[in-house]
Amino acid sequence: MSRAFNFCAGPATLPEAVLKQAETELLDWRGTGMSVMEMSHRSDEFVSIAETAEKDLRELAGISDDYAVLFMQGGASSQFATIPLNLLGENAEADYVSTGIWSKKAIAEAKRFGNVNVAASSEDSGFTTIPDQSSWATNPDAAYLHYTPNETIGGLEYDFVPESGAVPLVADMSSTILSRPLDVSKYGLIYAGAQKNIGPSGLVVVIVRKDLLGKARKETPTMMNYQVIADNGSMYNTPATYSWYLAGLVFKWLKEQGGLQAMGEMNARKASKLYGFIDDNDFYANPIDPRFRSWMNVPFTLADDALNGEFLQGANARGLLNLAGHRSVGGMRASLYNAMPEAGVDALIEYMTEFAKERG
Ligand code: PMP
Repeated sequence: MSRAFNFCAGPATLPEAVLKQAETELLDWRGTGMSVMEMSHRSDEFVSIAETAEKDLRELAGISDDYAVLFMQGGASSQFATIPLNLLGENAEADYVSTGIWSKKAIAEAKRFGNVNVAASSEDSGFTTIPDQSSWATNPDAAYLHYTPNETIGGLEYDFVPESGAVPLVADMSSTILSRPLDVSKYGLIYAGAQKNIGPSGLVVVIVRKDLLGKARKETPTMMNYQVIADNGSMYNTPATYSWYLAGLVFKWLKEQGGLQAMGEMNARKASKLYGFIDDNDFYANPIDPRFRSWMNVPFTLADDALNGEFLQGANARGLLNLAGHRSVGGMRASLYNAMPEAGVDALIEYMTEFAKERG
């Protein structure tokens, strides 16, 4: 059996070493005679798995005790509602920056709960750039400022952390968390669906400054109340135990790779190789302002859309999988998360070179 290079945007490729460890431990986790999947979430064994995962994540990302780390469910999409319910207060307004499909979804959901001020938008450019922060019409009294550091579908990524002064900064890091060094202290809240850089789906990690807890509106569903989840060690109900365990294996793997600094260097190298190739080859194009090109998701088009099907078929035949762009935008997209080895990028470039030679 040989593993393919899977460029899916999510659920995404996982480190092979992690899958092998999970395989070894699948039937009998460390002599317990059972799989992690079968354990009570209240057992000493699972509690130790959960606590170790949190400790390793705190070490990796430098998360201080001023922050709670929550392992929640419902995906990043349910956070689009959970965040305003917990942080907005009764009559406040929140600032949002609109840079693509995911920020638009976050905005639409927040509008159900209160006033949303779209402080800046790059929609006029077709979401190919990030508006300069000097042009943002932010509200100094906003309950928080929400932005999307990496737009997974558009392949558009901030190269700066917005300055929000005393207003808590909230970031949807679903597709960029742990891909490079991170200064958690600049944020009020960070959230990320797990299925890209953390582990399997079923889990969403929330890192929230503790002074922001306890402010949820009274109608907030219990399962969406950060204070309740924090007070119960993310075990108010049955958590996504197996996803949590696998996330823990991924955190250990990241530490072994040298942590976020090493990941950042590798990810920058992989992305610049692929963008460099696209820029040098007339057959391929990427529409994003070069300053804001995503390291994680690289969309590209072929010179002739009619060749898309053939391109994908040839790629599949070589074990280069899931290169079709999101259904809303078409074209191609190669996702290069932490677990995509540089050899995958090399194999993709080799195939793209040959395809352009034959069909260009
Ligand atoms: N935000 C971003 C930036 C995403 O990429 C995604 C998923 N692709 C989501 C939110 C939604 O995540 P989920 O499917 O976990 O709800």
